[in-house]
Amino acid sequence: MKNLLKNVVILLSLTSAVLLLGSCSSDEETTVPESTTTEKAGMETEDLTFCCNSDSLPFETLSQAEIDALLLMREEELLARDVYSALYVVYHVPVFNNISKSEQQHSNAILRLLTKYNLEDPALNHQPGVFVNQDLQMLYTSLVAQGEVSRIEAYRVGATIEDLDIKDLMDLMETADNQDIRLVFANLTKGSRNHIRSFSRLMLLSGVTYVPQFISPELYAWIISTPHERGCING
Ligand code: MN
Ligand code: MN
Repeated sequence: MKNLLKNVVILLSLTSAVLLLGSCSSDEETTVPESTTTEKAGMETEDLTFCCNSDSLPFETLSQAEIDALLLMREEELLARDVYSALYVVYHVPVFNNISKSEQQHSNAILRLLTKYNLEDPALNHQPGVFVNQDLQMLYTSLVAQGEVSRIEAYRVGATIEDLDIKDLMDLMETADNQDIRLVFANLTKGSRNHIRSFSRLMLLSGVTYVPQFISPELYAWIISTPHERGCING
């Protein structure tokens, strides 16, 4: 009994020490475990050229819904890339740089589909932070402003983008039946699940919980409780 009490006291003092540490680590400071995690976060070496070998799949007629989906996702992936680059400039946290590079690959995978189907690329003359889709334009402006508030808000912005990406990609896959589009979207969704795992973990290390705004709480709970996904999703 005495031992148990002693353990509880030790545990409590440890907890308050951790809390103290947590409250000391302001936006500018980085505790050792967090910097280790941020260095690694988003460092997955995904090879989408290999994963999304969409060129080898048949050329199938595109529905209008599939055309709209490709045009939207080409720019939505660039929105993610541009927001993360902007936030990397502000905070120099590696996660933003790493995931930004991954978003470039995601957008490239959509471009390959646009090229395959002879569709005009909406991002042909893309400038960072400038979008043809005006909903994405407004979203970009508000997300960067939110992310500039603090490092925690920047992580929340990251989780929000991935949350939205997963929702959009899952919805679009419901209406897309072309094998190549489904393959690319499935792999982009996998990438987004890995990204939201990184942002969620970084928020938790700062004692903050992300609450999903687009996907269901059940799906979010499943994603963050399962390990980083490696390799390709095939068909
Ligand atoms: Mn992406
Ligand atoms: Mn992402």
